[in-house]
Formats: sequence, structure tokens, C-alpha cells
Amino acid sequence: MAPHDLLVDQSNAANPASHAHQMAATKLASVSHRYTANRRAVVDALLDLPGPATIGELLQAGEGLAQSSTYRNLVVLEQVGVVHRIVTSDDHARFELTEEITGEHHHHLICDDCGTIIDVLLDAEVEHALEASLTRAAAAHGFEGAHHRVDLVGRCRSCQS
Ligand SMILES: [Zn+2]
Ligand SMILES: [Zn+2]
Ligand SMILES: [Zn+2]
Repeated sequence: MAPHDLLVDQSNAANPASHAHQMAATKLASVSHRYTANRRAVVDALLDLPGPATIGELLQAGEGLAQSSTYRNLVVLEQVGVVHRIVTSDDHARFELTEEITGEHHHHLICDDCGTIIDVLLDAEVEHALEASLTRAAAAHGFEGAHHRVDLVGRCRSCQS
């Protein structure tokens, strides 16, 4: 292995953001789209935010993001599998990076009243049991390449008062 390769590997491990940008650029390139400064800024904003964000939250978090181009770029990024759109009961779609981009699997607590979404991790043994059970269900119906999304819908703390 050349010293240069080693450097790249280390920076990936130490810097999830650079890994996310590389993956995003690769996915866009595979369908002949460019990873423009604006698309990069959208990914940066999503990396900074603590959980799934509305367009409004994204525009606040990102530097110099314009609403119209951000919306168009989110559509493109969703099509190539960089961004995941979550639709809740309040009609405001929320956006986050896909698990393929972040390399992290998680679940959601969704507030049925205000649409807030909180990212949560389940115990490893629960994930394992869930995956085993769902894999059996998928096999019974001939499903291939299945992955799961399990969200808990309820009311967040601030909507209870
Ligand atoms: Zn709420
Ligand atoms: Zn999430
Ligand atoms: Zn899971």
C-alpha cells in the first residue's frame, strides 16, 4: 500500500464528513451529476444538524443556501440515495442523510402532533432479533435486499404540556 493510500484511509476513519462527501460525489457521478458547491453545502448542513430537518431548518443551518436551489438539490440528492425524505403527519417533510452515507443505522421517534423527529439507537440485541425476524418474513415472501425502518409514533415532550 502506498503511503498516500494510508493517509486517505486514516482521514476517512477520523472524519465521517469527508467519507460522506466522497460517497455523495460518487453516487452523483454514477448518474452524470456534478457534486456542486450548493449540493455539498446541503450535505454539510445535514451533517451538522442533530436529526432530520425541515427545509426551513436546513436553510438556517446551511450557509448561503437559497430556498429554490436547495429544494431542487434535495430532490436530486434523494434520487441518487444521498438524502432520505421522511414524511410525517404535519405535512412538513424532513430530510436526513441516508444510512448508506452516514454508515449508521438508527430508528425514529416521530411526534404525531408537531412532526418533530428524534433519531434513536436500539440495543444491539434488539436490532439483532428484529433483523432475524424480519429476514424470515422477507424470505417467506421472496423479498430480496430487504432493510428495515421502524419508527415509533407518539407525542414529544413539548406537545404534552
Ligand atoms: Zn411534538
Ligand atoms: Zn434519522
Ligand atoms: Zn433497526
